[in-house]
Amino acid sequence: MNKETPETILVVDDTESNLDMILAILKDYDVIASTSGEDALATVREEPVDLVLLDILMPGTDGFEVCRRLKASPETRDIPIIFITAKNDEETIEAAYDLGGTDYVTKPFRPKELLARVKVQLNLQRVIRELDFLATRDSLTGIYNRRKFFEIAEQMYAGASDDLYALMVDIDHFKQVNDRHGHHAGDKTLKTITATIAGLLPEDALFGRMGGEEFAVLLKGTDRLKAAEVASLLRRKVAETLIDIGEVSPISCTISSGIAGKQEDIVSLDHLLRQADMALYMAKKGGRNKSIFRDT
Ligand SMILES: [Mg+2]
Repeated sequence: MNKETPETILVVDDTESNLDMILAILKDYDVIASTSGEDALATVREEPVDLVLLDILMPGTDGFEVCRRLKASPETRDIPIIFITAKNDEETIEAAYDLGGTDYVTKPFRPKELLARVKVQLNLQRVIRELDFLATRDSLTGIYNRRKFFEIAEQMYAGASDDLYALMVDIDHFKQVNDRHGHHAGDKTLKTITATIAGLLPEDALFGRMGGEEFAVLLKGTDRLKAAEVASLLRRKVAETLIDIGEVSPISCTISSGIAGKQEDIVSLDHLLRQADMALYMAKKGGRNKSIFRDT
């Protein structure tokens, strides 16, 4: 998405002279050349690719088959594909679009046309990614919004044994921040605390804003002790964090959290989060600035 980094385009054609020509046209991009369908499929599995230029007629796995396989896999189905071929009969063009191809260029190519079509697809792809980012992030804090959190959490839950732990986290006395210092300070507090938490969580943890001053974390591949350690680390570090709200002195806040693990009696993700929520309620009731386990 960074404008500085050139996009990666995979070009697949069994004729080397075609590859050379396309490489020259796409000199400003990061291009990976491939001379067979099998090789192209292997490349896409290993490297992030923004666009595929795909010859249809190739020995072995032809372009249509490569397209079919890319579209069948969730990891690769959103990569746009521009077919390149000498065939320009209606059936071929129809099949190319039916299989999920986004565009079609006929050989011999006109360099400017090819480049223009490539640019259109890459721009579209960038816009889609930006929209996807906006649709999945909480606009204030930049972490996952509730909807995206649940979407990923359901997958994590389905794939986990009893090594999955949920933390419900809530900022203590957040209302007072807004009441005393105004909503700008409240926003700053939410941003600072989420940044602190995000910086402390393991890389594979899931972190989302549930609403207001409440957040949820899913930790995988962990156990009761480690989950408790994470909760306590977050609590300590948040309490130490000074929040600059544009007044003479910075403020600080504490958090409370409730922890629950995916044990045998937990029947769903909602159930797990409800258990963590109950523990959070106990932490609040018990005086705040605490993390408490939901014991079942
Ligand atoms: Mg060919």
